[in-house]
Amino acid sequence: MSNIVTSDSKAPVREVRRVQFGILSPDEIRRMSVTEGGIQFAEIYENGRPKIGGLMDPRQGVVDRTSRCQTCAGNMVECPGHFGHLELSKPVFHIGFLNKTIKILRCVCFYCSKMLISPTNSKIKEIVAETKGNPRKRLAHVYDMCKGKNICVGMDDKDLDKENNDYNDPDLSLKKKIISHGGCGRYQPQIKREGLDLYAEWKHLNEDSHEKKIALTAERVHQIFKDISDEEISILGMCPKYARPSWMLVTVLPVPPLCVRPAVVMFGSARNQDDLTHKLADIVKTNNELIKNEQNGAATHIIAENVKMLQFHVATFVDNEIPGIPRAQQKSGRPLKSIKQRLKAKEGRIRGNLMGKRVDFSARTVITPDPNLRIDEVGVPRSIAQNLTFPEIVTPFNIG
Ligand SMILES: [Zn+2]
Ligand SMILES: [Zn+2]
Repeated sequence: MSNIVTSDSKAPVREVRRVQFGILSPDEIRRMSVTEGGIQFAEIYENGRPKIGGLMDPRQGVVDRTSRCQTCAGNMVECPGHFGHLELSKPVFHIGFLNKTIKILRCVCFYCSKMLISPTNSKIKEIVAETKGNPRKRLAHVYDMCKGKNICVGMDDKDLDKENNDYNDPDLSLKKKIISHGGCGRYQPQIKREGLDLYAEWKHLNEDSHEKKIALTAERVHQIFKDISDEEISILGMCPKYARPSWMLVTVLPVPPLCVRPAVVMFGSARNQDDLTHKLADIVKTNNELIKNEQNGAATHIIAENVKMLQFHVATFVDNEIPGIPRAQQKSGRPLKSIKQRLKAKEGRIRGNLMGKRVDFSARTVITPDPNLRIDEVGVPRSIAQNLTFPEIVTPFNIG
């Protein structure tokens, strides 16, 4: 493998030793970005040239045959394209991780981020031992144990009361220590999802039966996830080093290279931007509006409306076929093609372009049985049977 030359580059070809899957952390997204300071402008051109910090930032790659890349100095063939990034003013949910986000949320305390069941619990220890190397199963088991808990295991005296403990028992404080792991002991809300919004709802019958329901912002969820300890991240089936729960929320958005979203030159001089560029423009505009409103101290409901818009655009950038969410549309009414739609299904990048790659000197045809053919023969159309091609190099001797 290592001897295959794939380009004119003199750089040594490295051998792949290991593949590590994980979630891109905000820091990693910033590190792999070539757009220092991030993409900040929805405009593309400035004085007839691509704008630095705009959606066609020349540091992200080349778009025409004559220019060279501002990052790698390569031309259109040599430059592989480079990722940029966009700092979101407030975190939003990542549609691909939303279900897992809710699951993790139901396993930890709403206030102090501690697991709702102590890691010292014998059943939890059992699960951890049994699911070594299978973190997905680990979360499923831990989730089953935690989801019904509506109180953070602080184990205050009231709870010990219920268990008919004798307060004079010298072992009591020890027991308290074992059961609790410093949880805050507060009642937990139920987490509900409606479209792209999460809600936290408190229902406890013994407390004057007042119910309270609040919108649970991605910002709050991000804060809760950030406070989960490394140890408990592992118990929840995630990984402190490669896949932290807080990374499941989008705080920094990777901006794909230009060659991933090329503009189509139309008749005349008009350029038709790629769907992803359109979507990115929506995200940049909404983000800038949010920043402006925050700086001006706008009312909370205006800010909330901005965040909602930002959430919608970031979600439909990734997936524009979310059930129960309106499709983001082009001016013509055509739904925009999101990243997910590019990859999935038969005509997508994986099944359509990679697994079913068209190869030279091969053909595909119908074949048929026939009463006139022998049992071990098949019929092939004449045009296929008579057609055999092979490459012929053109030289001065055979040209013409
Ligand atoms: Zn380049
Ligand atoms: Zn707590």
